Amino acid sequence: MTRNDDVQNHEWLDRYKKKIILGIAALMTLSLTVTMIYIACTMRSRLLEERAVQAEELGTILHSSLNHLMESRDPGKMQDALVVIGKENPAIVRAFILDNRGKVAYSSHEQDIGVTIDRFSDVSCTGCHNGPVTVPHDRTMTVTVDDKRVLRHVHIIENRPSCHRCHPAGVRINGKLVIDSSLEPTDSLIRTVILIILGSSFACLAVLIPFLWRTLSKGVNTYINEIRMKSAELLILYSIVDRLSATIEFEELKQIVIEIISDALGADEIDMVLPNEYRELGVIVWTRNRSAMVRKKVEVASALHDIIYGWVEGRITEHTIVNNGKEIHMPVAKAGNRLAFIIIRSTSGVFEPYQLTLVRGMANHISVAFENALLYRMAITDELTGLYSSRHFRQAIGKKYSLFHEFGEKMTLLMIDIDNFKRINDTYGHPAGDAILKEVGKCILSSIREPDLGFRYGGEEFAVILPASDIPAGKVVAERMRALIEHYPFKADQHVLKVTVSIGVASWPASAESIKEVIAEADKALYDAKHGGKNQVVVRARGEK
Ligand code: GH3
Ligand code: MG
Ligand code: MG
Repeated sequence: MTRNDDVQNHEWLDRYKKKIILGIAALMTLSLTVTMIYIACTMRSRLLEERAVQAEELGTILHSSLNHLMESRDPGKMQDALVVIGKENPAIVRAFILDNRGKVAYSSHEQDIGVTIDRFSDVSCTGCHNGPVTVPHDRTMTVTVDDKRVLRHVHIIENRPSCHRCHPAGVRINGKLVIDSSLEPTDSLIRTVILIILGSSFACLAVLIPFLWRTLSKGVNTYINEIRMKSAELLILYSIVDRLSATIEFEELKQIVIEIISDALGADEIDMVLPNEYRELGVIVWTRNRSAMVRKKVEVASALHDIIYGWVEGRITEHTIVNNGKEIHMPVAKAGNRLAFIIIRSTSGVFEPYQLTLVRGMANHISVAFENALLYRMAITDELTGLYSSRHFRQAIGKKYSLFHEFGEKMTLLMIDIDNFKRINDTYGHPAGDAILKEVGKCILSSIREPDLGFRYGGEEFAVILPASDIPAGKVVAERMRALIEHYPFKADQHVLKVTVSIGVASWPASAESIKEVIAEADKALYDAKHGGKNQVVVRARGEK
């Protein structure tokens, strides 16, 4: 799975994005509405309080002016005054004076005079007088009169000494001045203000919601992309660990590492530098077009040589993007031990800085896998020649055989034996013989390609497995090897020696079908080569001589 595939498989995050944005928008709408309602309610109660204060003041003024008329004992003038007040003050719905029995004594509406208002049954009174209460608990209140809300102010007319001429001195209250003022202007003002507040709230939301949607979308998108990238990175790293743990063999691991890097970063070319067994630098090159790994000789004067030596000399330790985003340098090290240097190239695009996090994670996992593989390789390597040991030969050929068994994949086996080696030992001594064995090992390695495997099979016997190769290919490799050794300037005791090898070639399925039979056929071919005069290649295949 590539990084892009993985990023696309996250529709569930988009669903969350919608929920998050809608949630925030709903919360903001709710808080705006609550604020507006609070403002409207506060304003309404302030307006009503103000009206109550005005009503109180009006009551006090009315009471003092009516008091003078009362003291002059001119009820007619009092009645006229109330009528005038009712007519000239549009805010006053009605004003009347109740006597102690609840009868209207004077009123701005003359037809009401004489009407008795029962404070326990009249709708305008029951709001306050709903029990055995004789005095309303508030002087100013909102009541309903003739289906209209009015602000009622009740002013108590106390029985003062100046009243005692008409009212007995023992009575505390002579009556009540009741002034009903219209609440219509206040209510209409409150309605208008609420409408303005609601209108502006909706207008505000209509502007705010698209703006919020855009701003929040942008913010949430950033986070979602971050989550997607992290999750894709984790998945890639998880699959990397999974794929790296599939093998402990260095050769297979190289292939897996190349695949992992090309998949995860979309690389087109990868150079892998590995310090090989002869402490020389082997460079393996992979290109997307060819898809196979090949060894590359690095020219001393080339830019690649300088870069590689920058790593060898410890100058390149960080993962970096260079060459205008076209190249990533990935040093792979474990506890200061340089294990590999990987140069990743893109010919079709550029690498982005965010990919370095993934590169670092990959390098860590690759270093662990390489270290384990190197330890394993040490365990299966012949110390003298650096080739694989004979113990590993059985394991490796078993693996190749299972590939043949499952997929019918071809495989060719070369059995190589140094000619007259006893004589070399006898003439120049065992250490000189060892040195020649080592050199022959080098010649064998340099004659084979990347997936081929070289083994020290016995004392001075070697084996080479050529995967996916048939008899003709095996014959070419064997002949190249034989010729190289024949002309190689081996040295012993300051002498240049000519060393030759005999090689037997056998193959699946051309020579035989089981492991045992193929080894036996290669052995027989080698035997034939020895008896045919040595320094030659003999092939044993069914149908061929
Ligand atoms: P032929 O051409 O028939 O193969 O002759 P040969 O002398 O090469 O074969 P032979 O089997 O008679 O002798 C093999 C010799 O290889 C014997 C042994 O001393 C030598 N030899 C085996 N292992 C080692 C080693 O690790 N180091 C050295 N120096 N010699 C070894
Ligand atoms: Mg020999
Ligand atoms: Mg031998």
